[in-house]
Amino acid sequence: NRQIRLAARPTGEIDENTFTVTEEPIPQPSAGEFVVAVDYVSVDPAMRGWLDDVPSYIPPVGIGEVMRAHAVGTVVASENDKYPVDTVVSGPFGAQEYAVSDGHDIMVVDTDLAPAPTWLGALGFPGMTAYFGLLDVAQTKPGDTVLISGAAGAVGSVAGQIAKLMGCRVIGVAGGERKCSWLTDELGFDAAIDYKQGSIGRPLRAAAPEGVDVYFDNVGGDILNSALAQLRTHARVAICGAISGYNATTPPPGPSRYLSLLINRASMAGFIIFDYRRRYPEAQAALQAWIRSGQITAAEQVEKGDITAFGDTLAMLFSGANTGKLVLQIR
Ligand code: NDP
Repeated sequence: NRQIRLAARPTGEIDENTFTVTEEPIPQPSAGEFVVAVDYVSVDPAMRGWLDDVPSYIPPVGIGEVMRAHAVGTVVASENDKYPVDTVVSGPFGAQEYAVSDGHDIMVVDTDLAPAPTWLGALGFPGMTAYFGLLDVAQTKPGDTVLISGAAGAVGSVAGQIAKLMGCRVIGVAGGERKCSWLTDELGFDAAIDYKQGSIGRPLRAAAPEGVDVYFDNVGGDILNSALAQLRTHARVAICGAISGYNATTPPPGPSRYLSLLINRASMAGFIIFDYRRRYPEAQAALQAWIRSGQITAAEQVEKGDITAFGDTLAMLFSGANTGKLVLQIR
């Protein structure tokens, strides 16, 4: 059982010293437990934050610990009647080839409804984050103009499609021409702005001349600032993430355009998907229905490798090398 363990806390970007590979015997299940052979490991921007020893919503991964990761795998040995051999499950299995579980935080995966990687994307935490961020935190209503950064990623691509289903006008921000045309041509976004061409201020004013009602922020930094400058009265900003600053070695400056919140009587609120735990079934029901009917396109980028490719795959998120949900397939 090869495992990815945290070797050293990175300063800035993760590098070859961040993780180390160790090997242990494949675990055996005790009474009530089962063993999962991990097939797909989720790779998430939040993992960068879990490497820093700073107060957060979750304790950091300890030095020497197996890297925290959500994954989908197949039960290969079981002492738990609820999870017999061959059941496909998702859960917090960590970045390792085999994991033992007692069923806590485990979801049975229906691969007839959607392939396993989708259960780490549109039908996993990213999809549910899009759902609650948009509906609950941002209080999105039909007719709203909705701006989404990180729009071609796992959360952003689902958020944009949900907003379209709700009858909103949707503008995405993403890096590069290819991602932008994917958003408009394949996912039905009304407009897409390539932030790599320069400040999004001018193209945003052109795409949303009357301003935006909702800004779903995955990126922070300059893009957040430009979005704040274009808020409508009573706009809502949902702070889902701020990936542009995750590798920063000094705290990024606060948004200089924050007074727009006052001028427009707007609000800005952060959220963590884990707080919606009791409502996951609601999000699952909605997302599964949309996937089943084809109203939401689930997009994953599956990288094939073995568990030792974990660090390099994680780094891809910070260079924008992924479109849709990034998943590492190890079996
Ligand atoms: P994505 O699939 O969106 O992957 C990350 C993307 O971010 C990249 O593809 C890249 O796209 C973009 N990006 C990277 N660096 C920058 C930068 N400097 N400036 C602008 N864009 C950048 O990841 P997820 O969908 O999994 O996560 C999206 C966000 O949601 C993250 O901030 C994450 O932390 C947050 N999140 C929050 C949750 C919560 O509970 N609040 C739960 C889950 C995720 P591009 O090519 O466009 O640059």
